[in-house]
This record gives sequence, C-alpha cells and structure tokens, in this order.
Amino acid sequence: MKKIYQDIEHKRAEGDIWFKDLKRKRDTGPTLNDHRYSEYNASTKSVHAGQYDDPKTGALGTPIYQCSTFYLNKNSYEAIEEGRGRDELIYTRYGNPSQWSVQEKLSALENAESSIVFSSGMAAISSTILAMLDKGSHIISSRDIYGGTYNFLYEDLDRYGMSISFTSPSNLNEIEAAIKENTKVLFFEALSNPLLKLVPIKAIVALGKKHNLRVIIDNTFLTPYNVKPLDLGVDLVLNSASKYLGGHSDLIAGTVSGSRKLIDRIWPQMLKNGGSLDPHACFLLERSLKTFALRMRTHNSNAMALATYLENHSGIRKVYYPGLPSHEQHELAMEQLNGKNSGMISFEIEGGDPNAHALLDHLKLPKEATSLGGVESLISLPYNTSQASLTKKQQKAIGINDGLVRLSVGIEDIEDLISDFDQAINKVLKNTDTYVEQY
Ligand SMILES: *Cc1c(COP(=O)(O)O)cnc(C)c1O
Repeated sequence: MKKIYQDIEHKRAEGDIWFKDLKRKRDTGPTLNDHRYSEYNASTKSVHAGQYDDPKTGALGTPIYQCSTFYLNKNSYEAIEEGRGRDELIYTRYGNPSQWSVQEKLSALENAESSIVFSSGMAAISSTILAMLDKGSHIISSRDIYGGTYNFLYEDLDRYGMSISFTSPSNLNEIEAAIKENTKVLFFEALSNPLLKLVPIKAIVALGKKHNLRVIIDNTFLTPYNVKPLDLGVDLVLNSASKYLGGHSDLIAGTVSGSRKLIDRIWPQMLKNGGSLDPHACFLLERSLKTFALRMRTHNSNAMALATYLENHSGIRKVYYPGLPSHEQHELAMEQLNGKNSGMISFEIEGGDPNAHALLDHLKLPKEATSLGGVESLISLPYNTSQASLTKKQQKAIGINDGLVRLSVGIEDIEDLISDFDQAINKVLKNTDTYVEQY
C-alpha cells in the first residue's frame, strides 16, 4: 500500500512540473500526459496514447470527466485574461480532460501536433472551413463529396460573403484553372463515395504550395490507418468519427488535426458554433480507438478478399475497389496507401436495381443501413440513399449505374461473409425473373 502511495506522490510531482512546463511549450496538445507515443506504431498508439491515469486514485484508464465547469484558480484567471484558454480547464465547451485525452490519441494516430474533437463530422467540417476563410475569400472543392458538406458549401458560404468553385478532384488542370486571387483553400475527400475514386494528395499539395493555398482533406473513408494526409503535406485532416474511428455504429463525432497554430485558429470557431464533444462520447471514442488499428487490419483484409471474390463472380458486372488491379487508379492507390487499402467496396450486380434490392433481401449478415465503418457489415444502394437527390440521368452522368451497391465490409469472419454473398447472389440470379416482376 505504501509503495502505491509513494508512486502516486511521485507521479503527482511529475505532473506538477509538466503542467508548469506547458505554459512555455505550446507546440503540441493540450494534454495531461508527458508521453506522446510518437515513435510507436498504429496499434501501440491506439492502445496507449492520450490515456490519462488519474494520479490521485491510480485508476487505470481515462476517467469520464462528466462536468460542465472547473474550479477557477490563478492559472485559469491568467489564461482567460491572456486569451489562451485552450491550455487550461475552465468550462467544458472550451476543454475537458476527456476531450484532451481522445484528442491526444488522435494526434498520435494522425502524426499531428494538435486535434479537436467535435459533436459530429459536420460540426468539424463547418467550423474548420469557416475558420480558414475570411469574408470575400474563395474555396475550391468537388461535387463528388459528402452531401452534408456539399450543402454547407453550396448553400451557406455566400451568406458569409465567401464563394466556392466545384472541380473534378483528380483533374489538376481544372483545379488550377479555378484558382482566383482570393482563393484560400482546396478541400477534397481522400476517397470518394460511392465509386471510391482517390484524390492524388501529393499532387494537390504541390498545387497548394505553388499558389499559397491551404489543403484540407476529409479522410473519413480511409482513416489515418490507411493514409496519413498530414505526412503528405496536407494542412488539416478531418474525419467523421461516427464512421471508422468510432467503429461500432454507436456514436456521432468529428475530428480535425494539424499544426498547433492552425488548430488554435479553429478552436475559437468551435467555441462560437458550439459543436464541442460531450465527455461521455469522448470516453466512447477513446475506448473505441484502442482497437482502431486491429479493426482496420480486418476491415482491409476482409474487403480485399470479398472484392476479389465478387470480381470473379459472373453475376457481378463490375467491382470498384482500390486494392484490385482493375481499379482505374490502382497504381496511385498502391503508392498513396503505402500497401494499405480500404474497407469500402462498391459493385454492380447483373440485372440492375431490382436485383440489387433482391440481394439486400437475401443477405443475412450485412445490415441494410446507411453509414459505414462499423464492426458489422453495412450495405446500401447509392441511388436511393447518398445520391437520392439526383435524377436517374444525373446519377448515370456521374457513374452511378443501375445495380450499384455500396458495402462497408465489417470484421465478421471472411469465410462467413463470402458464403453469405455466395448464397444471396446465387438466389438472386436464379430468381431474376420473379424479382424483376416484383419491383
Ligand atoms: C458521414 C460523413 C460526414 C459527416 O459526418 P457526421 O459525423 O455524420 O456529421 C462527412 N464526411 C464524410 C466523408 C462522411 O462519410
């Protein structure tokens, strides 16, 4: 017992020294820890980084600091007066140890100096974009992005006196031609939905450097396990943590990571828009992230095996998967993803949408639901979900063909997934005529 108390006293003393240090060193964090695990690999970071073991009790694991406010002291009064409240615990919308803990784990996984967690992916995206643009400035993005983001850019920016141009994310000439004197930001998604087109991140970063623009990447579909955009020179990386980072289809959250300087600029925007993440959701996200690398390995390898199976099935017309040599950008995928892959697959079934519906009916394991990145396989049809606002003609124009299915491959056993798809596809094809009549 005495030894434990001595250790705790020792840790506390160390903690005190570290806290004082923080006032001078502002390059990373905010944090409660003195170890950033930056030299370790993805699974070690997932497990250990950011975890705050309460020195007073010795409890293992970050406690849920379910409080809205904190006792004021000399440090917090000084911080408020000097406008550097991000490094002190004052009020939970400003910061909370549960937020700091999960933010630090994220920073470790993204190789970032600093991160902020938000109440949703959209809160992260809207606050980040507003913080990076001034009145009168211009942003370049693509129509091939998440619907919520598109709506925000298309419907709301001009109300703030900002403007937007949409280009193809892989056509560098088109992007460069869209750059104006007041352009400040290039915003793209690393892997597009649902056709899984990659954005050439390095080339876009080079273009950004040439014209002095900031590059922001929404990396929700790939996650820092498959590519770390900050390592490729991107300024800010965003994630909807409701997907792979949370990974269990049970929470809504968003993240932004980058240099401490830029993240410190987004923080006051988060305070104004109010999208901070609740301490209990922070706990869920931090707990989920402990198995992040473990889950991603299985998502990737299951998806590769299932994509290969589907491509070899005569009932499947086309498979979109960056890991397959048949993918248009397979070479770029091999280079950019550094031997990693993706857990998402899209494919077209023979017989079009009626057969796609029938397939969903016959599958036993994948759940018919929108969203992605959960431990369970999730399946949906883009034509009546993510791209439902487009006419059939518009859908065709952007490559959403009849019979297109989007699949987020879960971590079930691959043998079970393949045999489920096998029985379902074979049933659909055998019954094609009846199913065509039904729909
Ligand atoms: C889901 C998603 C979002 C929005 O995230 P929420 O957490 O639902 O607000 C943004 N971008 C992409 C690519 C997404 O898939």
